[in-house]
Amino acid sequence: MTQPQRIAILGATGSVGRSALDVVRAIDGLEVFAISGRSQLDLLVQQAQEFKPNYVVAVDPSSAAKFDFQTSAEVLIGAEHLKTIACHEEVDTVLASIVGFAGLESALAAVQCGKRLALANKETLVVGGHLITAAAAASGSEILPVDSEHSAIFQAIGSGKRSEVKKILLTASGGPFLEFRADEMHGVTVEQALNHPTWEMGRKISVDSATMMNKALEIIEAKWLFDISPDQIEVVIHRQSLIHSMVTFADNSTMAQMSPPDMRLPIQYALTWPDRVAGPAVDFDFSVAQQFDFQPPDFDRFPALELGFEVARVGGSSGAVVNAANEAAVEAFLDRKLSFTDIVSACREVLEQHNFESHPTFEQLVAADRWARQEITKWITA
Ligand code: NDP
Ligand code: MG
Repeated sequence: MTQPQRIAILGATGSVGRSALDVVRAIDGLEVFAISGRSQLDLLVQQAQEFKPNYVVAVDPSSAAKFDFQTSAEVLIGAEHLKTIACHEEVDTVLASIVGFAGLESALAAVQCGKRLALANKETLVVGGHLITAAAAASGSEILPVDSEHSAIFQAIGSGKRSEVKKILLTASGGPFLEFRADEMHGVTVEQALNHPTWEMGRKISVDSATMMNKALEIIEAKWLFDISPDQIEVVIHRQSLIHSMVTFADNSTMAQMSPPDMRLPIQYALTWPDRVAGPAVDFDFSVAQQFDFQPPDFDRFPALELGFEVARVGGSSGAVVNAANEAAVEAFLDRKLSFTDIVSACREVLEQHNFESHPTFEQLVAADRWARQEITKWITA
């Protein structure tokens, strides 16, 4: 790498956070300056013992209060310290890998402080895309996508000029229920929904992949990251998750990025960009047959997709509302208090009932988030 990077990993104990630490293990020049976690404090301390960061942030004071942190790092307790480490003068890159709305404030702070942001937390752009892009324009912060599809688009889009982009083809594995009939989906269990065919991920994003709300969030994420109209985004089902997305240019040439499914590769690219270096990801084995299938998505069986396009077009507070409704509905589903198909139905209804705000402030986003979560309680069975 041309320049060593000191990284703050927000959400180090999660699926993306752990993969990022694997990348750090493999690559010289990446140094962990700070890590954060919420409930998995044993793991957080193990990570601190191995990577010797300067700071460890435990965001939940109630669990941290009783915990014996055996680390030489300075331990900061409370969610407000996510901003402290995101803006620390010795940090070059902030990896935003907290899940959900909880990741917005610290990601926004990192951008406002002019840090390079390696962004896994797609909810940040879904909820506050307008705030993040305005802050990046003001501070000069670079935002590098970690989401595999957006990393692929970022890599492919450089093959032409931005004005020459005709459309973005966002690939989707289709999740575990791609072949299910509509009537079969109502009764799917938590275990079935968490069993993703190609990716091993956190629980929330696994359920989002099963409803295809994940793709809906990614449509909105792509709109903000690449400053592209939602009408230029198309979703393509690609079962094998080998091609991670594509860009078609004005001459109808389509560029794709492909690699075996492994989040460590897009994480690494975001941390080492603009350099490419050898890391933990493996390459394709073309000594065995490989198959690449594509098919259009079924908007009837996966109504989340239309919701994603709608929110991407309308903008304003609608992203905050759908995101919060979805987070609360997924939590209720995981607690077995809401049926699988009600997740997206509830999001649709909450979106239709909300008081639209075209240019919400951060505080208005927080209020919209709270309101939408409250609305979901009406759907929950005791
Ligand atoms: P996980 O649930 O595995 O990890 C979430 C991380 O955030 C953990 O470190 C967790 O701490 C921490 N956390 C949870 N709640 C809070 C909170 N309220 N405040 C502060 N920290 C909190 O999620 P993933 O790693 O799967 O996903 C992270 C983000 O990356 C999501 O936005 C997801 O959409 C995105 N993403 C994930 C991919 C994947 O392959 N997993 C792929 C592409 C994007 P603890 O565990 O200690 O409680
Ligand atoms: Mg993705």
